[in-house]
Amino acid sequence: MEDCLFCKIIRGKVPSKKVYEDDEIYAFEDINPAAPIHILFVPKKHIESIAKIEKEDEALIGKIYSAINKIAEEKGVKDKGYRVVTNCGKDAGQTVKHLHFHLLAGTNMGEKLL
Ligand code: 5GP
Ligand code: ZN
Repeated sequence: MEDCLFCKIIRGKVPSKKVYEDDEIYAFEDINPAAPIHILFVPKKHIESIAKIEKEDEALIGKIYSAINKIAEEKGVKDKGYRVVTNCGKDAGQTVKHLHFHLLAGTNMGEKLL
């Protein structure tokens, strides 16, 4: 998508701090971290939100969670705990309309929603 920020980040047209990449997934540090570790995982395929996934995307979503677990282990938070969030639509506060999963860790998040 021409005017999608995360598509531009995936293509390197907008700079980002890469954390992980494979054929289908790109992960990078959030520009405005809400926790000491705050990484965004995005499919390279433009999908607007979790509400728009198709049957054919089911395996991709599983791969994203596997990538999240791999990075959580690398960052040393696998046992301490971490939170995975995907905002979907207006009421959830989704600001970028390209499916992304927030990995949040490195602090006790208690009851906080994000
Ligand atoms: P949302 O609110 O849509 O769930 O999350 C969007 C996230 O993207 C926010 O946490 C925001 O800080 C992050 N973000 C917005 N623009 C940029 C950018 O240009 N670069 C990076 N690395 N993160 C961004
Ligand atoms: Zn996109």
